[in-house]
Amino acid sequence: MREEDKMCVLCIDELAIKANLFYNYGRDTVRGVEDDGISRSLTPASTAAVIMARGLKSNWKQPLGYVFTSTTYSVVKTKDLLEKFIIALDSVDLNTIALVTDMGSNFMELSKLLGVTKEKPVFTLGNKEIFYVFDPPHLVKAVRNNMLLNSFCWDDKKTCWQYIVDFYNRDKNLTNRCAPRLTNAHIAPGKFEKMRVKYATQVLSATVAGSLHTYIELKGLPEDATGTMEFVAFFDKLFDIFNSSKLYPCKQYAKPFSGQPFQIEFLQNALEFLQKLKVINAREQMNCMEDFDQLLLNLSEFREVSVASLEIEEAANKLSFAVNNCDYHTQPLPEQNAFKYVCGYLIHKCLQAHKCDVCTQFATVNQQLDDSNLFVHYKAYSNEYSLFGGLKTPHESFYNYIYLLEKVFFSNIEDKFVQPRVGYSLYLSCKEIVGFTHPCTSFPYDYLLQLFVRLRLFYVIKNSNRNFKNTSKKNRKICILMGL
Ligand SMILES: [Zn+2]
Repeated sequence: MREEDKMCVLCIDELAIKANLFYNYGRDTVRGVEDDGISRSLTPASTAAVIMARGLKSNWKQPLGYVFTSTTYSVVKTKDLLEKFIIALDSVDLNTIALVTDMGSNFMELSKLLGVTKEKPVFTLGNKEIFYVFDPPHLVKAVRNNMLLNSFCWDDKKTCWQYIVDFYNRDKNLTNRCAPRLTNAHIAPGKFEKMRVKYATQVLSATVAGSLHTYIELKGLPEDATGTMEFVAFFDKLFDIFNSSKLYPCKQYAKPFSGQPFQIEFLQNALEFLQKLKVINAREQMNCMEDFDQLLLNLSEFREVSVASLEIEEAANKLSFAVNNCDYHTQPLPEQNAFKYVCGYLIHKCLQAHKCDVCTQFATVNQQLDDSNLFVHYKAYSNEYSLFGGLKTPHESFYNYIYLLEKVFFSNIEDKFVQPRVGYSLYLSCKEIVGFTHPCTSFPYDYLLQLFVRLRLFYVIKNSNRNFKNTSKKNRKICILMGL
């Protein structure tokens, strides 16, 4: 690689993602939380950011990593991450010259933290001087958005979007159009259309500037439209000069920047012009925050609970100590009902894993209808032959055992939720602390523990995802609440 091929630009871009957790069985990990590759937090991720390096003078690009963050992710952490990337690039002899981001509020904050100003768009990180560049395609969209709502004024001139609308309305009905590319999406872009760069660049283009000029000359538009025309022509050139991609383009300002006199002169004039610009009739302070490429990404759907793929090692240890100091009856009655229903499900699954007379007897021993098992009773598909139909009502010791497992699960979940092998470590905690003695020596204790942990994790994730749907971004929390 030649020295000049090693010069690169670091870019970061983000897109909004739908807050959603899911449990990855294969890796036994909860996905969907804030994760910057260094640590994971209990906050659901709402943004996915990609960091990419790309050659400044040659055409190569390399994604370096991606980060899942939330609105609360600190800029200090972003800065630390950046430093890591710059040092990593340096270690393979790649020379970072500039950083490119859009003008999202977090990046504005980052630029401030890095000490970047209009006068001095440079910061030092990892012993390097690096230029901070705001993404031109994003800037051009921001200008267009401002033009839609407000007027830009300078000297005795101003812009007025209505002239572009008037021109479009006449032009669109002609057989031979001046600006055949323009559509309604250019003139009155919707929320998603506003994110497309081309709808902005094709309006702020030489074609539209030339068309407006023609209409003014032919008295199709008033003299007052001159400001709008000049503004459009200026931004067409400004965008071109920052967006050169071909060596020999047909447009003069789209030539690669090489410091030619016409280029320097244009940029110097541009600086003066931009400093003169004022925004009036600001009904709304526009910034670029609405450009969160709002892609609602369904990370994954939660699949049905199944134990088959859980990679938990076989435990041969017999659980010998009995359950004590734990009474599920302390729960409120409606909860006791739901709780018993779940216990019935668990023992039913255990019977599928191993069945004998002793186990069947244990699983159905409780045939008394009381306030705490009404739900099991009513929920039974058919209770013609027994009070609880096919649903199981196991021995009291089983309820207490599961209740104790619940307590252990909830006292551990917060610490372990974002850790690797979440299911396995919760299983170990449950196994370590509690146990009960089943009358059958072949009772599948381990299977029960694994199933219980799965089921509980499933509920936490399901409740959290439900919470994300109904709450604003800031208030989204992972719901670690006891109770079904
Ligand atoms: Zn058995």
